[in-house]
Amino acid sequence: AKSAGRSAFAFYTPQLNSAAVERLHLEAALRRALERGEIEVHFQPKVDRDGRPVSVEALARWDSAELGAIPPAKFIPIAEDTGLIEPLTEHVLRTACREAAGWAGAGLPPIGVAVNLSPRLLRGAALVERVAAALAASGLPAHRLELEITEGSLMGTGAETLERLNALKALGVRLAVDDFGTGYSSLSYLRRLPLDVLKVDQSFVTGAVRGSDQAILARAIISIGRELGLTVVAEGVESKAQWRLLHEAGCHEFQGYLFSRPLSAGDFAGWLRERTG
Ligand code: C2E
Ligand code: CA
Ligand code: CA
Ligand code: CA
Repeated sequence: AKSAGRSAFAFYTPQLNSAAVERLHLEAALRRALERGEIEVHFQPKVDRDGRPVSVEALARWDSAELGAIPPAKFIPIAEDTGLIEPLTEHVLRTACREAAGWAGAGLPPIGVAVNLSPRLLRGAALVERVAAALAASGLPAHRLELEITEGSLMGTGAETLERLNALKALGVRLAVDDFGTGYSSLSYLRRLPLDVLKVDQSFVTGAVRGSDQAILARAIISIGRELGLTVVAEGVESKAQWRLLHEAGCHEFQGYLFSRPLSAGDFAGWLRERTG
């Protein structure tokens, strides 16, 4: 091979190229998937201190006809970069509100539903109207909708975002900080923003065995949340030992494989019926 020819293309390594090509393929496939209604919404229950189901988190699922199952960790970042997060969230939000209203209509106990909002949506002006429209279309009471916003996107929020969060609060929806503990160290935003719920990131839960650093941190985070008057939720609870430790620390709600994996809407209705008689 000619070394001069190679160096001319030094920036276009085969790896870089194929990663970029894969991304383009995924973007095109995701666009088609949204048009075809291939993105599904699954629901993972959260239970209270007595083990009673209180709400569910809506999680996007993509089982592509062409590419097989693709995890959210792969397609959500692409959706965020390309703007497809807007139609995707609209779909998840509408489906979540409709299903939650439907369960109550089918005689099941009223249950809350949480939808994940990406940072990009928080910066857009249309968010408040979209949430209001999804509530109106489904008939779901606003207090049963929760919006989960990652800690990272709440940091350093400007006046516009604060105004938007206040407008969402004024609709009556609940606001949750997601993945708490993974952002920067400033805690001032917890007091500055109109928040209701703090979700302890699963990285603190996973290693929470008695006496471990994670257990100490989980305990500290739970007490911060409680003292600020927030509902504290632990996510990624997989074992009874973790549950016991978090329960003792005063955590209000629990989510994780110990209780249930994310389920399709139909399977969740069955799960809820079984637990509520
Ligand atoms: P997240 O919001 O932190 O959601 C919790 C994730 O933890 C989910 O992964 C859930 O399936 C998983 N999980 C729940 N319980 C356990 C457990 O006991 N052990 C373990 N190891 N994992 C557990 P999933 O569904 O793969 O979603 C990953 C991330 O993708 C979510 O993290 C969220 O940030 C994002 N995501 C998913 N759906 C949406 C969506 O509709 N919109 C947006 N913006 N993001 C979404
Ligand atoms: Ca979440
Ligand atoms: Ca989370
Ligand atoms: Ca997470």
